[in-house]
Amino acid sequence: MDDQQRLRYSRHLLLNEFGEDAQERLLAAHALVVGAGGLGSAALLYLASSGVGRITICDGDRVDLTNLQRQVIHRLESIGKPKVASAAATINAINPDVRVQALEERAGPERLAALVRTADVVLDCSDNFATRHALNRACVAHRKPLVSGAGIRFDGQVAVFDLRREGSACYHCLFGEDSEAEEERCATMGVFAPLVGIVGTLQAAEAVKLLAGIGETLAGRLVLFDALASRWHEVRLARDPQCRVCAAARAAA
Ligand SMILES: [Zn+2]
Repeated sequence: MDDQQRLRYSRHLLLNEFGEDAQERLLAAHALVVGAGGLGSAALLYLASSGVGRITICDGDRVDLTNLQRQVIHRLESIGKPKVASAAATINAINPDVRVQALEERAGPERLAALVRTADVVLDCSDNFATRHALNRACVAHRKPLVSGAGIRFDGQVAVFDLRREGSACYHCLFGEDSEAEEERCATMGVFAPLVGIVGTLQAAEAVKLLAGIGETLAGRLVLFDALASRWHEVRLARDPQCRVCAAARAAA
C-alpha cells in the first residue's frame, strides 16, 4: 500500500481485527457481483469503497426512472444506459484502486460458471430464480463462497453458502426449483427502498469479511429482516442430504 492508500483505508487499519494484512488481501481479491439493481447498488458501493481490488459486475438491464427509488448507484443522467456502465462510472469516481469489469449481459449457466471460477467470492444480487440456481450450481462446483441476498416488499434475507466448510448447505438445499409462479408475482410487487440497501450492505459486509479473512460469517445461517416491524430473525441452515446439487458434488469430490 502507498501513502494515499494508507490514508484512504485508515479507518480499516485502525480496527484491531482488520489491519494492513487484511486490507492487502482485500486489494488483491476479486468479487463477482451478479445484478446491478437494488441489492447490487448497495453491495457494490461498499465493496468498492472498502477497497476490493477487482470487481466483475454482470447485468443485462438498462437504467430506467423506476430504478432510481432504490438502485442508489445509478444517477439521473444514466437513464437509458446499461446498468453495468452506470455502476462502473460511479465506482471509478469513488475509488480508482478498483478495477471494474462491466459485463452487459444476462449470463446463462455456462457463462456464470466461467465467471465464478475466476472469483474469490460471489454475490447473488439477481432478481430471478434461474440465475440464483445457476450461480449456486457454479459455486458448489468450484467451491466458491456464495453470499445470497433477496428483498421484496418489506422482507429481506441474507445467507452465506460456503461449501469449503464441512457440512454446509447450498442454496438448493433450502429453495427448490419449482418457484416460478412466485417469481411472476415478484416482478409486480413493491419494494421498500431502504430494504434493498440494508440487504445489499449486509451482503457487502459478509463478502468483505470472507475476502479479508476476518470475523465469523453468516455461513450456515439465514438472516431474515422485516423492515416494516424492524425485526431480525435467524435460522440455522441444515444441509439436505438428498440435495440434487451439493450431494452429487460431495460424492464426486
Ligand atoms: Zn444442496
